[in-house]
Amino acid sequence: MNVTLIKHMTFAVRDVEKSLDAYKRLLGAPADTEVKTFAKSRNKAAIFELGGIEYQITESMDPDGRFASWIDQRGHEGLHHICFAVEDIDAALAEAQANGATLKECFACKVTGSHVHPEGWVAFLDDEVSGIEIEYMQVYKEDEGVDRPEGV
Ligand SMILES: [Zn+2]
Repeated sequence: MNVTLIKHMTFAVRDVEKSLDAYKRLLGAPADTEVKTFAKSRNKAAIFELGGIEYQITESMDPDGRFASWIDQRGHEGLHHICFAVEDIDAALAEAQANGATLKECFACKVTGSHVHPEGWVAFLDDEVSGIEIEYMQVYKEDEGVDRPEGV
């Protein structure tokens, strides 16, 4: 397993505008950060970099959406998942599964295991670390991912 960096951290919130305002006021998140709508995954998200890490602050557009249901289950907003960049996603998944991991279906794409996303191949695990969902991403190099889909 070779985790090279944290690709992003994704937080589940009830009100992305309000949350983004707090990041701007309290932590100096970039003032020009805007909330964007991602139709495929039915999320509204503010995405920005802070301290060298990409933050994704996400709010479900539907009451039973991925992030809304997570908040309902836990009773509070919080860190939903960390996306770990790996050198080779197939090798990482094989190693994790050999160590007892189970793959989880991607909420947006309904695909289990490695599949194309806008920035790289991704896969989710059913297993958590410290209550945090695990996402792997093998980030595309320049000539890869030409068929990448739009949106998060
Ligand atoms: Zn997906």
